[in-house]
Amino acid sequence: MTTSDATDFAPAPGSADIGVYGLGVMGANLARNLARHGHSVAVFNRTPARTRRLMERHADEGHFVPATRPADFVASLRRPRAVIVMVQAGAATEAVIDQLRALLEPGDIIVDAGNTFYRDTQRREAALRGSGIHFVGMGVSGGEEGALLGPSIMPGGTAESYRRLGPMLESISAHVDGEPCCAHVGPDGAGHFVKMVHNGIEYADMQLIAEAYDLLRRVAGLDVARIAEVFRSWRDSELDSYLIDVTAEVLGRTDPATGRPFVDVVVDEAGQKGTGAWTAQTALELGVAAPAIAEAVFARAASSAPAVRAAVRGADLDGAGAPPALPGGAGAFAASVRRALYGSKIAAYAQGFDLIATAGADNGWDVDLGAMARIWRGGCIIRARFLDDIVRAYGADPAPVSLLTAPVFASAVRDALPAWREVVALAARSGVPAPAFASSLAYVDQLRAPRLPAALIQGQRDFFGSHTYRRVDDADGVYHVLWAREGRAEEKWS
Ligand code: NAP
Repeated sequence: MTTSDATDFAPAPGSADIGVYGLGVMGANLARNLARHGHSVAVFNRTPARTRRLMERHADEGHFVPATRPADFVASLRRPRAVIVMVQAGAATEAVIDQLRALLEPGDIIVDAGNTFYRDTQRREAALRGSGIHFVGMGVSGGEEGALLGPSIMPGGTAESYRRLGPMLESISAHVDGEPCCAHVGPDGAGHFVKMVHNGIEYADMQLIAEAYDLLRRVAGLDVARIAEVFRSWRDSELDSYLIDVTAEVLGRTDPATGRPFVDVVVDEAGQKGTGAWTAQTALELGVAAPAIAEAVFARAASSAPAVRAAVRGADLDGAGAPPALPGGAGAFAASVRRALYGSKIAAYAQGFDLIATAGADNGWDVDLGAMARIWRGGCIIRARFLDDIVRAYGADPAPVSLLTAPVFASAVRDALPAWREVVALAARSGVPAPAFASSLAYVDQLRAPRLPAALIQGQRDFFGSHTYRRVDDADGVYHVLWAREGRAEEKWS
């Protein structure tokens, strides 16, 4: 690592409240946010030019303590020392932690604020525990602007480290109704886990909105300008959210070069950085149904396979025919899409919260689910009016089995279901893919069904693999049918 420079800074020892290591897009803005809120911030970057740039441009925003050498940076912090690491996840984070570990003392705190997989955070926390250094995995949402003006912050780690960090982090987080969008999530990897699920929900929310747009365009036949208006009108509904605002803005843009809607000149291959896939993989691993999140990841993957798309398009499989006539016209269909979108959104969030509850129970994290909804109300990408209802739902019952059972959401889903079914059916008949709408509906239908065909699957498993089954009239017994023997007698195995 390049750690020295011709123009070394001379930081005063023990003078800074907190340090930020890594002054890229996120780190520089987080450091400025801390300084603007009256905290004295030690700043360090591997390449000193970035530290110098921060001082040249923003030194007047508060009290910064720049350093050119890691040892000076650490020495400039008051005890117990707290360092926020804001570098790329993976090898860079690992290298920085190793470097800091050698310079810090028991009781000091390393905060990894990058997008780290929670299992890596758990591993690092366990590795550092013996040294007495606290390791905090911290989710930060809101991107570049959020880091500067107020992000949603999800710190994990020990309660002791939160006592040191909490007041500073809460001061720089977004605030909604006077409440900070920052709370101690739970020990070890809990903070990064919740941030991961936040991103998974974000994937689902974006996919659902994209499907709503596609349906309005290809089933209802609305033009892009009119669809932008529809999304604008949804700001006054239960769907009011940052992502609906973003959608209205993107759809409202005209490409200056061609005069065409901007959305029509963008290549239709969605990128991903991996946190949605982590969420889906973790849901599979924990055995939690999160189909809306998984469908969102798969939809991005399918869009980004141009060769497969071209080949299948070339095979001319179209059997959809013309879009069916809409019973109440485009306006009524748009209202149905709004209801279906809201129902799907509730299902997607129920899946995300189920994932957090399950991981929380497995890991002994004791996550306050209502507090998670509260800290997502500002600063982050999924901020939405609807989160207030989630906060209230968990306030009334801190441990509902599913968000779908909270009275406010049960009644919303009940109201949405007729329109939701109609929209999914029309999408299928029109040949317009709506995987997240359809799988969210199936999720609700699965959970509310008195009987599922899982009984048949148990029978199949018993037939070919002697995997056994339980009977409805003896839930504790384990049974097997001697399928290969004459008479196919049933045996009770335990
Ligand atoms: P960035 O602008 O690319 O900056 C990366 C920083 O990491 C630079 O300061 C770089 O130092 C440093 N770095 C890289 N390798 C290093 C190493 N081996 N040793 C020491 N320092 C090293 O990245 P960013 O957008 O700020 O993102 C930082 C973290 O925040 C990532 O984990 C990202 O996933 C997470 N995050 C980003 C966003 C976002 O919207 N951008 C939102 C939430 C979370 P040099 O200047 O010396 O190269």
